[in-house]
Amino acid sequence: MIGAVGNVEIGRVFDSSLLGFTAQMWFPLFDREAIRVHESWLCPNHWDPETGRVPMPVHSWLLRAGGKNLLIDTCMGNHKERPQLPEMHKLTNRYLDRLSGIGLHPKDIDFVLCTHLHVDHVGWNTYLENGRWVPTFPNAKYIFSRAEYEAAKVEALDPNSPAFIKATFEDSIFPVVDAGKVELFDGIHELLDCITLRPAPGHSVGHVRIELKSQGQLGVFCGDMLHSPIQVPFWQWSSVACWDQEMAAESRRDLLEYCVAENALLIPGHFEAPHVGRIRAKQDQFSIDFGW
Ligand SMILES: [Zn+2]
Repeated sequence: MIGAVGNVEIGRVFDSSLLGFTAQMWFPLFDREAIRVHESWLCPNHWDPETGRVPMPVHSWLLRAGGKNLLIDTCMGNHKERPQLPEMHKLTNRYLDRLSGIGLHPKDIDFVLCTHLHVDHVGWNTYLENGRWVPTFPNAKYIFSRAEYEAAKVEALDPNSPAFIKATFEDSIFPVVDAGKVELFDGIHELLDCITLRPAPGHSVGHVRIELKSQGQLGVFCGDMLHSPIQVPFWQWSSVACWDQEMAAESRRDLLEYCVAENALLIPGHFEAPHVGRIRAKQDQFSIDFGW
């Protein structure tokens, strides 16, 4: 475990990093000149000015809350056919070994929460056993937003969708539904007296942010509401992967304002070390103090 919010211990389970995106291709509103004054704190971990790349690790967050083990987002998974996405294709990562390194076996996970159902957030929902995709965490209840699930299903059935969308639904989402492991929720969902899943649409139709409150301290797992700390000062910059870029920016601004008002720890899905931080606001400009 690498940190805590109140008496909830938090660990990080790393899958692998996406290194192929430049800020130019990832953020349509990217402005090379505007980020020059931010290079002192962005470089080298969060932005490489020579190549223009934005490193994006893909990790799960593991929570130990009220005697239960919760996993937030499940990365890319192994052996998945993703020929259109070379960095996610037929991986053989040591994700489960890293989970063991924290002292947990897949059977020990009680809840799997997905901020949304994109390809890099659902992969370890399942693993390949005798040629079939089966739930990786046999004793877990998987909790998804109904709006997100219905939208993923519609997209998977659309013949015009990219092949990886259909494949993701078939190998990483539907098998856990078919196995009776999924609970879908509408609106706001509360869990274990310390966790609230709250709609935060824009990056995807039913994206949620997951708020944790323990002993007066707050943390918020925000999935892909931000992909990089560049989006703290430039909260208007949504990504090419966002379903609705303007709505994503609105939800991002709401999130940052919440973090400032509540002094909540921001815990995103793709920030390089130190992975988390607290948001500050000064003269209408947001900034981040990294660390727990
Ligand atoms: Zn993601």
